[in-house]
Amino acid sequence: GSTIGILGGGQLGRMMALSARYMGYNIAVMEPSKNSPCGQIADHEVIATYNDIEGARELAKLSDVLTYEFENISAETAKWIEENANLPQGSDLLLTTQHRGTEKKAIENLGTKVAPYMLIDTVHDLLKGVKNIGIPSVLKTCRGGYDGKGQYLIKSPEDIEIAYESLKGKGQLVLEQWIPFELEVSVIVTRNQVGEVTTFPVGENIHINQILHATIVPARVDEEVIIEAQKIAIELARGLNLVGTLAVEMFVTETGEIYVNELAPRPHNSGHYTIEACETDQFEQHIRAICNLPLGSTQLLKPSIMVNILGEHMHKVLENLDKLSDYHLHLYGKKEAKTGRKMGHLTVIGESIEECMSKANELGIWPELK
Ligand code: ATP
Ligand code: MG
Ligand code: MG
Repeated sequence: GSTIGILGGGQLGRMMALSARYMGYNIAVMEPSKNSPCGQIADHEVIATYNDIEGARELAKLSDVLTYEFENISAETAKWIEENANLPQGSDLLLTTQHRGTEKKAIENLGTKVAPYMLIDTVHDLLKGVKNIGIPSVLKTCRGGYDGKGQYLIKSPEDIEIAYESLKGKGQLVLEQWIPFELEVSVIVTRNQVGEVTTFPVGENIHINQILHATIVPARVDEEVIIEAQKIAIELARGLNLVGTLAVEMFVTETGEIYVNELAPRPHNSGHYTIEACETDQFEQHIRAICNLPLGSTQLLKPSIMVNILGEHMHKVLENLDKLSDYHLHLYGKKEAKTGRKMGHLTVIGESIEECMSKANELGIWPELK
């Protein structure tokens, strides 16, 4: 059979691999550490850093088609792969989304709103930025941040210096206006090489300490907002020449205005619910897109809630497994249960969101979902 080569060995790679294997493909993975979540289940493991062109060459030799689950591959390596191997996704979108500045510009160019922002190189820029953008605002590193790492919330003028001191030396920064959102949603959009596009049902995302905690589907917003969110995702997919999967994180204000927060050019944590709740899941859809297959139906089968299991929850979840009959448990095969580390997730499906919610709350591990 054909082999799919995945750059990056984390849980997204693992779930891509599980889907691809189910479809009959073999799996090769490139990842710096042995026995990674994806490496554990792959047919071939290439142990190499993401920026190692020799490693990429070895992965390409083992594979018929390549994809990535890890976003921070260097431009040089991404270009090498695009030119010398079969990477249907290409490297343009990957490189655009690696920097919050180029990402925001691309979104704006396609006519979609982002929070007012300013790129920051010096403390002088930051003082000027805060003057223009106001308080509260948030200072972020342009590259490499995830789970709220590399961000500082500016709540008062006294925070300006501290924010700058805590992030300086981490490359270019961006100051964003804090959007007083009513809720956060995300749309997972997939496009294949012949231009077929699908979106998954809009998910409502609850963050705790800037880490995704839960995704509730369908999102509890007006139908117009649902339609607009999906329209934005499709416009971005077309405008950015997407091949594969793109997650679009958005803020929805009280008046139903939508701002795009950020993009992830791959399957996304907020789309894990699709594994049980949709006709085709985001990982299968991604594999279909990069393998030049027709896309599947994204129909929602039942309302669902996905809850992340972080390191600090792991013990309690395992202790309470007897209460988990109605859940689908996914563990990522990570050894060390560090605080804040994504170890797995639970998905509950039901006849209504209320039913899913009361089941999720039964466990008593997390703050109550409301
Ligand atoms: P990840 O990639 O893991 O989603 P990240 O580190 O890239 O996270 P962001 O998505 O930029 O971080 O921010 C994390 C969360 O912080 C957002 O989901 C949102 O809850 C809040 N947040 C970030 N920027 C803003 C903003 N401008 N206005 C309001 N809330 C914000
Ligand atoms: Mg991010
Ligand atoms: Mg985010």
